[in-house]
Amino acid sequence: MIVALAGGVGAARMLSGLVEVVPPEDITAVVNTGDDTVMHGLRISPDLDTVTYTLSGMINPETGWGLRGETWSAMTELRQYSGGRLGWFNLGDRDLGTHLYRTSRLSEGAPLSQVTAEIAARWGLGLQILPMSDDRVETRIVIDDATVAGREVSFQEYFVGARHEVPVRAIRLAGIDTASPAPGVLEAIAAAHTVVICPSNPVVSIGPVLSVPGVGPAVSARRSHVVAVSPIIAGRALKGPADRMLAELGHDRSVVGVARMWAPFAATMVIDDADRHLAGAVEAEGMRAVVAPTVMSGPEEAAALAHMVLGAAAPGGAA
Ligand code: GDP
Ligand code: CA
Repeated sequence: MIVALAGGVGAARMLSGLVEVVPPEDITAVVNTGDDTVMHGLRISPDLDTVTYTLSGMINPETGWGLRGETWSAMTELRQYSGGRLGWFNLGDRDLGTHLYRTSRLSEGAPLSQVTAEIAARWGLGLQILPMSDDRVETRIVIDDATVAGREVSFQEYFVGARHEVPVRAIRLAGIDTASPAPGVLEAIAAAHTVVICPSNPVVSIGPVLSVPGVGPAVSARRSHVVAVSPIIAGRALKGPADRMLAELGHDRSVVGVARMWAPFAATMVIDDADRHLAGAVEAEGMRAVVAPTVMSGPEEAAALAHMVLGAAAPGGAA
């Protein structure tokens, strides 16, 4: 069995490669829910949906999130009603169906892990998709905005509302101390042949997953079987603020900074060809560095990387 610790887009690409090289039934994705939010009374789980929609081939290619073939009538009405005050967080009509279903089931008392399984089944996905926790954990971002220094906002206010253009001062994971891993998470990590840390934002995607009480130690206990893929290539994130966030929070803005964060959890890290010259510095952080093309620009690239990642985990495997 393969376990993948996952955020959104980078992880979804990694998983789309993994399902090409191992049977989906043998894969469990443990997905960040720190970005989850309640919007208009609806529970939104962006990373879970990005993974589900990508693997079902339904991700909207125009936006990179939400569903293919989307229309926007509900949002148009909402903006009309509110004079534009509401509707800054865009939700397509089809996508709203997912959020209505999730919210209804949660209000009936179903845990998020159960609802997530139901949504995955609807899309015919063979792999197991687990939220990191059934408990609410909220990633809160401390920013300096135009008016207030050190203002704490929700992740979506920072990411979508402020277009992640403002410097991040600190991250707080509200609710993390009392959260439990979703049922099956610890068991899957303990039983996994390989644990893959997907190329997702180390601070706000993988960070929350590893911070759920019990998960970090469970991953560390399997360290020799854990392979990470760097989300930072030549000092940059392919998309989003991961590179700036690292620097703003005092980490090295490079694959070496990522290695320093993940060395306690993973024995091996796959770094991009572009960072070949940093392999020695990564190894100085205590990780084995495997150099490979890591940009998953299409299905072939994703499958090739997945093959490489699983090979890198085996003792004496690809180096
Ligand atoms: P989210 O979609 O906003 O939740 O973002 P993620 O948590 O997935 O993190 C975005 C990170 O994924 C960025 O640092 C990207 O560089 C990284 N990423 C996205 N696609 C790829 C890829 O194909 N290869 C690699 N190595 N990293 C990727
Ligand atoms: Ca995310």
